[in-house]
Amino acid sequence: HNDDIKIKFTTGTINMNAVNVTGDLGSVTTTSGMAWKVPGRIGDSPIVGAGQYCDNLVGAAGSTGRGEANIKTCASFLIVEFMRNGLAPEAACLKALERVVAMTEARLLGPGGRPRFDLEFYALTKDGRFGGATLYSGGKFAVCDEKGPRLEPAAFLYRR
Ligand code: ASP
Repeated sequence: HNDDIKIKFTTGTINMNAVNVTGDLGSVTTTSGMAWKVPGRIGDSPIVGAGQYCDNLVGAAGSTGRGEANIKTCASFLIVEFMRNGLAPEAACLKALERVVAMTEARLLGPGGRPRFDLEFYALTKDGRFGGATLYSGGKFAVCDEKGPRLEPAAFLYRR
């Protein structure tokens, strides 16, 4: 943290997954809103299966947070595969986070073997079930369905 640098951070990568009344899915992750990117870094958003994945037979998933972890684990693809195999969206997100932790290089692990970064997953099934999970507690994600627009608490692996 450097107090000399007075810049308003306007980060804001967004993943959005939607299903219509006929059960067709749509999914998008905006290109990376990460601050202080290495020039030329494209991140995980435009990589199919990393920052976003959609299979119209199963569901859609996407992510915000440390994109390298998504690229390494094909995280969004993995979440959709977990749902294909029967996991609920939230459980699929949590299981993918466990894979991320297992594959995190030692230099990025802090006390207790916990990653020194955060990552958020969002998932939706073809039949309209949804879930979200983050590495660290306190996350929320936006949902809009027949009950109206609202924020839902995300599941998490570690309490802050
Ligand atoms: N996932 C994005 C990236 O690593 C960052 C973000 O979600 O804000 O490029």
